[in-house]
Amino acid sequence: MKLYRDEGIVVRTHQLGEADRIITFLTRHHGIVRATAKGVRRTRSKFGARLEPFSLVDVQFYEGRSLDIVTEVATLAPFSSSIARDIDSYAAASSMLEVAEQLCSESSEDEHFFLLLAALAALARRDQAADLIRDSYFLRALAVAGWALSIWNCAECGANSPTIVHLPSGGLVCDSCAPRDSRSLPAPVIAHLGALMGGQWEAVRSSSNLTRGEASQIVANFLQWQLERQVRSLRVGARMHAAI
Ligand SMILES: [Zn+2]
Repeated sequence: MKLYRDEGIVVRTHQLGEADRIITFLTRHHGIVRATAKGVRRTRSKFGARLEPFSLVDVQFYEGRSLDIVTEVATLAPFSSSIARDIDSYAAASSMLEVAEQLCSESSEDEHFFLLLAALAALARRDQAADLIRDSYFLRALAVAGWALSIWNCAECGANSPTIVHLPSGGLVCDSCAPRDSRSLPAPVIAHLGALMGGQWEAVRSSSNLTRGEASQIVANFLQWQLERQVRSLRVGARMHAAI
């Protein structure tokens, strides 16, 4: 019988039969782990309440043939109660969990775990507006995955102070690398993106709503571009695998 322990953030739960759930964790040492929690939907279950999304738990797994099995759970930080009380925090946290699961499926970097943990703790404490915490998390999680948004140097040639967004290149590009008729971003939007990436919250908070909105749209588009690219490359990989 092979047991192992880890700290994990509950990123998703879904029902399995009458009484069980499959829980997806982002763990500190083992990346994404999907495990069966038996009997958790019974009212007397000692696990049930501890295995809610957003919660940080200390968990013991039994290594199964396909899915592992949760054998012990202790709550380390019950972020779910605080996050669920505020609709903006709940929405931001939910999209963060979704992105974390997608970005980490191939990786067991503990940086992903600590980044998500810090962002959930900030949301639970209402440190900043929820959408700012979310956007900062997205930029940093993408950077950990190897897809840092290029902000200060042209994504194509490395020239200083690029001003034009070109997502297929990986961020901002300079005038000579940009497609014709491209529009330059206002300087405050570029500064705001840099502050989100660096966690410079004083600068982030001083940005106008217009600047925040424009930057948020760029973050969302960049995230979507990278996630779709990842899905496309997995599909190509699967096809190649099938052909071999
Ligand atoms: Zn360039």
